[in-house]
Amino acid sequence: MAQETYNRFKEEKPDCREITALIPAFLSDSLNERELHHFLQHVRSCQQCYKELETNYMVERTVMYLNEDLPADASFDLTPLLEKELEEKTAMLRYDRRVRIMRSVIFLFTLVLIVLFLLDLTGLFRITVFLSK
Ligand SMILES: [Zn+2]
Repeated sequence: MAQETYNRFKEEKPDCREITALIPAFLSDSLNERELHHFLQHVRSCQQCYKELETNYMVERTVMYLNEDLPADASFDLTPLLEKELEEKTAMLRYDRRVRIMRSVIFLFTLVLIVLFLLDLTGLFRITVFLSK
């Protein structure tokens, strides 16, 4: 019974620990694409990890700002900045994926052309005959 209560209150998703371990790498932009995708997805759906990220982000960025000699009236509301950074990274991932798909399509298209050309050259399938009709 006691164990049951414990489990209910400490219902951590299995990869929360893994995600929080990735926070420093996320903040220093050193996650690879797969990790970043996993990280963003998790942080979006897990309040606990989002809060953890937010705290780390605040600390890191505040130190950065303090080192930059900003004017005294510089805004210290960092919450929208984190939101912006998360959105930018999500968009970047989406863009990278699109570029990769485009590249594969172009590659396949070129490959098909080369194969048709070779078939035509070897006389196995004379595409030029169809084209000149
Ligand atoms: Zn989590």
